[in-house]
Amino acid sequence: MLDNLGSKFQGIFKKVRGHGKLTEDNIKAALKEVRLSLLEADVNYRVVKDFVNKIKEKAVGENTLSGINPGQQFIKIVNDELTELLGGTNARLTKAHRGPTIIMLAGLQGAGKTTFAAKLAKYLKKNGEKPFLVGADIYRPAAMKQLQVLGDQIGVPVYYEEGSKDAVNICETGVKKARAEEATYIILDTAGRLHIDENLMEELNQIRKKVRPQEILLVVDAMIGQDAVNLASSFNETLNIDGVVLTKLDGDTRGGSALSIKAVVGKPIKFIGVGEKLEDIELFHPERLVSRILGMGDVVSLVEKAQGAIDEDEARLLEEKLRKQEFDLEDFLKQLQNIKKLGPIGNILKMLPGVGDLGDLAPAEKEMKKTEAIIQSMTVEERRKPKIINSSRKKRIARGSATQVHDINKMLKQFEQMKSMMKMFGGGKGMPKMGKGFK
Ligand code: GDP
Repeated sequence: MLDNLGSKFQGIFKKVRGHGKLTEDNIKAALKEVRLSLLEADVNYRVVKDFVNKIKEKAVGENTLSGINPGQQFIKIVNDELTELLGGTNARLTKAHRGPTIIMLAGLQGAGKTTFAAKLAKYLKKNGEKPFLVGADIYRPAAMKQLQVLGDQIGVPVYYEEGSKDAVNICETGVKKARAEEATYIILDTAGRLHIDENLMEELNQIRKKVRPQEILLVVDAMIGQDAVNLASSFNETLNIDGVVLTKLDGDTRGGSALSIKAVVGKPIKFIGVGEKLEDIELFHPERLVSRILGMGDVVSLVEKAQGAIDEDEARLLEEKLRKQEFDLEDFLKQLQNIKKLGPIGNILKMLPGVGDLGDLAPAEKEMKKTEAIIQSMTVEERRKPKIINSSRKKRIARGSATQVHDINKMLKQFEQMKSMMKMFGGGKGMPKMGKGFK
């Protein structure tokens, strides 16, 4: 689902990530693309407008954190806002303190209500609950039979009344039976109609009053696009629903409704249906969906981790030193230690999108440790002025760090190369932000 939106966003991020500095102009350009992609994905235009404004405010207002590519920071902002838009953390299913939890399903015909009733029952059973199904879809004659067949498949009891036209009574009796069987969850599959009409709402209201469900879930077909949002609003006005189940997200739906429902209706999506089979049900996790849409691997948690490890003042000082070309081995040692704070290097790299199997990273880590040991065996003076390290000093350092003189030579050469590379970036204002870690 939302694959198209995903590839659009990834394209935008690719451009933004490369920037050492985000200016108002390139933020503007990126936001324009974000806006278009969301509209194309069928997200409600008001939702898009609010969303883009929020990002703009944050992206322009925020001081860029040293040590983090501003492009990555932009991704983090989009990530957080998108998660918020989808409802923040995942909304859980209610559970009654005492006695069974009654869940009432509502929705139009064909939305996937009956299928979802069985999916939910199966899901609950797998989680150690004792579900019970009640078929009260009196308008679609096949619906009750369909529920019975599905119930048999998953070994969950089903109650319905053949030929009955009294949905309220079916629900009341069904709840009694379920209580007698000590069910922990009672799922009511109510009637659907082709369109919303007063009779339907009245009937649902009656059921609600009589059986007092702890949770009313509206089942909506995601393929109806923007209408899903209007539909959810109408049902919510009359029934005060607790959440939404969005079905058929496996199809080539643009999925924008998923992004609009919480913002417009104010009720969370609790489950999604991703196929016709009974196991094709997923608890709705905003964070997971967003990381899937953005395809950013765990770049966000990398930024978070880096934010935690970075000391702003120290980073500023370092930048100053780089600019003045005063970066010495002491600073280098600090950098190495900061990278270590982020955890094993393989884990850091794995968090970056596009980085697959890196093979064995142990040699790289060993090198880092060696370099650290070498610098630690130097005097402060040697670290500040590596030029004074003559051959007798080298011998002493090698002894102290359990390395060889040629290791010291290699390390010093690499350091000089790094410094001259920095010189190329360096001086002046155009220098890319280095932050505390190196890139
Ligand atoms: P109801 O009238 O609301 O009870 O709808 P049904 O449960 O009978 O479902 C209508 C059709 O949608 C059936 O053919 C289901 O197999 C199909 N369906 C339900 N949920 C999903 C889903 O998540 N994905 C797909 N692809 N089809 C679904």
